[in-house]
Amino acid sequence: MNPGDIRFSADAMLQSLAKWLRLLGYDCASGGELHGLKLVEQAVAERRWVLSRNRRFAAELPHFLLLHADIALIASGRLPAQLREVVQRFSLEPAAFRFTRCLLCNEPLVQVPKPGQGVAPEVLEREDQFWRCPHCGRFFWKGSHVRRSIEKLNQWLTL
Ligand SMILES: [Zn+2]
Repeated sequence: MNPGDIRFSADAMLQSLAKWLRLLGYDCASGGELHGLKLVEQAVAERRWVLSRNRRFAAELPHFLLLHADIALIASGRLPAQLREVVQRFSLEPAAFRFTRCLLCNEPLVQVPKPGQGVAPEVLEREDQFWRCPHCGRFFWKGSHVRRSIEKLNQWLTL
């Protein structure tokens, strides 16, 4: 499934996983407040797959909500196994990485002209393409941190 076909909502305990899914271009809501009833209610309202390690979900939630919820229980306790699990289960396309989403806010990034400020001069000199998150205002570019993350993904997922 490509990033346009599926959306996720990660349990508060899975925020690192959420960040890596965003790096792959997938919409994955997450946050410290997002767990239990609130997590599932929001996921149902926004048609998202819930990712959680909480095996007691079914017992804790109202039955009517469970009927409408899509919940994927994550077996692995840590990365990168968690990411591999999600990629395999949903046939995600990790190579579809398009640098499209703010890693922190999950907002779609917008490509922008070279910024006049807010980015270090050496970066402005080196890079030609910039993106900005409309929510937090951070600038992104395909710098060494992005290249390192992609190398890591290649190892983890053997792309
Ligand atoms: Zn942001």
